[in-house]
Amino acid sequence: MTNAARYLRAVCRPLNHARSKPAWPPLVARLSTAPTKNAVLVKTAKMHKVILGAVAFGTGAAILLGAESPSFISAESLTDSSPLIAAPITPPGLPVAADTSYPPTMTIYDKELPVVTVFGDDTSDLGKPRLVILGSGWGATSLLKDLEPNGYYTVVISPTNYFLFTPLLPEATTGTVEARSLLESIRYICRTPRAHFCEAEAYDVHLKEKVVEVVGEDGRHFLVPYDRLVVAVGAQNNTLGVPGVQEHTRFLKTIADARRLRVELMTNFELAALPTTSELERKRLLSFVIAGGGPTGVEYASELYDFLHEDLINYFPDILEKDVSVTIIQSADHILNTFSMAISAIAEEKLRKHKINVITNARVTEVDSAAITYRKKNVPKGEPNTFVLPFGICLWSTGIGMRDFTRRLVGKLQQQENTRALEVDSRLKLKGDPNIYAIGDCATIENPRMLEIVKERFQKAGMDRLTYQQFQSVIGSIVDQYPQTAVHLSKLRSLFDTYDIDKNNVLDLDEITKLLDDVDKKLTSLPATAQVARQQGAYLARKFNSLAFTPSDLRPVVEQTLPPFYYKHLGNFSYIGEKTAVIDLGEGRTGGGFGVFLLWRGAYLARQVSMRTRVLLAFDWIKSKLFGRDVSRF
Ligand SMILES: Cc1cc2nc3c(=O)[nH]c(=O)nc-3n(C[C@H](O)[C@H](O)[C@H](O)COP(=O)(O)OP(=O)(O)OC[C@H]3O[C@@H](n4cnc5c(N)ncnc54)[C@H](O)[C@@H]3O)c2cc1C
Repeated sequence: MTNAARYLRAVCRPLNHARSKPAWPPLVARLSTAPTKNAVLVKTAKMHKVILGAVAFGTGAAILLGAESPSFISAESLTDSSPLIAAPITPPGLPVAADTSYPPTMTIYDKELPVVTVFGDDTSDLGKPRLVILGSGWGATSLLKDLEPNGYYTVVISPTNYFLFTPLLPEATTGTVEARSLLESIRYICRTPRAHFCEAEAYDVHLKEKVVEVVGEDGRHFLVPYDRLVVAVGAQNNTLGVPGVQEHTRFLKTIADARRLRVELMTNFELAALPTTSELERKRLLSFVIAGGGPTGVEYASELYDFLHEDLINYFPDILEKDVSVTIIQSADHILNTFSMAISAIAEEKLRKHKINVITNARVTEVDSAAITYRKKNVPKGEPNTFVLPFGICLWSTGIGMRDFTRRLVGKLQQQENTRALEVDSRLKLKGDPNIYAIGDCATIENPRMLEIVKERFQKAGMDRLTYQQFQSVIGSIVDQYPQTAVHLSKLRSLFDTYDIDKNNVLDLDEITKLLDDVDKKLTSLPATAQVARQQGAYLARKFNSLAFTPSDLRPVVEQTLPPFYYKHLGNFSYIGEKTAVIDLGEGRTGGGFGVFLLWRGAYLARQVSMRTRVLLAFDWIKSKLFGRDVSRF
């Protein structure tokens, strides 16, 4: 018997088996007793047989014609005596590495791991540069949406097989919108750029080998090679090392968090309404404490207020009046401290009106299962500064920190000095590795040390003073290279005049040093927002599209000629309850009220990644307006 024939027999064995034993015994039994009623089912069963036959025929024909081994053949389906298993194969369940330019396995730190090069059936882009994208959040999705097909063999790796519209997560905690309306399948988003999705978590990157070590939900590790790697894994909740936070508080970062908060909210109300619940316990159950007065904390408190006063008041009027309390604990001296002071004041006023207790200048020191302990700053001597507040639900929203994966990557590169995020240059390339890019919450763009740059240029040119024209040209070249400095270097004439202390129409070295020192101090990192991640993803897509067909040896040179990333601030929104939102457009331009609320909703509808979620969201808003939010608990 030839190898091919033996191979064919091994492949067909499960199909022969299916033929000898009926594949759907209960269905066949039912069909024989009710033939007319089940005519459609009979047809379906027949179709299944036809499909099975076609698959068997197609597989056999493909093998006889000398095609590659189909990827669904597992090691068990081949007999020991078969010469075909002499070649190394991947463990059962993993696809066979079909791109022969890679070995089937690699040894990493004494572990032999399979190398997976093909995902899914579509192999049309194999052989093209491999673009691997880690994550399926804002950064990754925006990149995928603008990436053109044909340029790369693109693989997306993420533990979540959907994109989550995070800005509306607080609305999902009360049922203003349903959780599913905030999700879009990442497989759907992958269709246009012909990307392949793999639901798994990136564990590590092996830089020398240019492979990502990935771990699936089953705990098995494998390697995915890349030519270009985009790290868009976001960040994780930051517990600030406070004891008890991980165990006893709730976060609001994932869709599971929002669902859990929604269920627990109703659980607490139902428990509080039991006749056996003491007054003290009722007050604790209905005490909602939010650690962190940033946008997430404020929006959650405001959503809670709306839910309590628009819906729950109809079902629990007595306890709502007497026993419910909402408290925000904020370490700074005002809430929404990434917004302007004017916005912060409007929000504080609104929260006060809603009887939401805002405690500023306070740090949480400990959390247990039923109470939070915080310490007030700047308390006059002799007065107590430590307080204990019982809670039924405590939301922890005090910022973000590095994921373990990101920390591992930082640890591998000497050039990475930032302890908060991966440092990238102004073209979003990881400092220390030219093949890796990082975007979104896991990345931060390095700020230039302007003073050092200009001093170096002065030395090279043997200059010690600048006329206004020279100043314009030096600053212009810095802004071209580091677009994030533009906002601080826009009004050049007035800058020049302000720092020209002796008014002699030239800036000497001391004056220049003072000017650049001040600008250096003002340069801050971009905020960790969806807006930044989305613009960075779109920037990389444009870059990858234009580099797709550039010969590999020319790519680094061509890439350097492409413009650096420029962030355009479109404004920050925050919802503050009772159909009121605030907006901060930067440079002192702010607004608030019902009009901004409509703008906020309109902007989020427009920002949806698909028509499906746009429609679902609009229906949810109409539904909760007409019928109120659903208070069922399940
Ligand atoms: C409640 C809430 C409200 C917000 N509101 C706003 C707002 O109104 N406006 C605004 O601009 N921003 C808002 N943000 C911030 C915004 O959501 C983030 O800045 C944005 O999600 C960052 O995008 P990203 O792509 O970096 O990360 P994410 O969107 O968090 O995506 C990270 C992705 O990486 C995946 N991942 C995680 N670990 C791994 C791994 N090891 N390997 C592979 N994949 C991995 C995750 O599953 C996820 O798909 C809000 C955030 C929250 C939590």
